[in-house]
Amino acid sequence: MHIDEIQNGIVLDHITAGKAMEIYHFLELDGRDCPVAILQNVGSRKMGRKDIIKIDAPIDTDLNVLAVLCPGITVNVIRDGVRVEKKALTLPPEVKDVIKCKNPRCITTTEQELPHVFRLTGAKTPVYRCIYCETKA
Ligand SMILES: [Zn+2]
Repeated sequence: MHIDEIQNGIVLDHITAGKAMEIYHFLELDGRDCPVAILQNVGSRKMGRKDIIKIDAPIDTDLNVLAVLCPGITVNVIRDGVRVEKKALTLPPEVKDVIKCKNPRCITTTEQELPHVFRLTGAKTPVYRCIYCETKA
């Protein structure tokens, strides 16, 4: 499957090898009936190995969240079989229920109904920290 086989949709490129399924589930692609191609462990000059997901349907999810799950991911928008846009993702200032707190003593471990909220901190190197216990994501 080549990029130009997609008519109207997106290609998620430069996914860290092994992370494609995580992204797939996050975008709830298993619940959609559009054609999806997942390429795993593709050779990449820059990354060694990478995963790629091609979705032949427009996606209305806020894709910026993907940069949280997988830094370095790139989004190509395909319209009428042509790549019309290479989207730069910006890290959202706050994410809810995207990443989970790893601190076993965090309140989110005992209070299961609490949302997992992380806030972006750090000027030079962006870091997400849990709003309850400040643990790094
Ligand atoms: Zn926490």
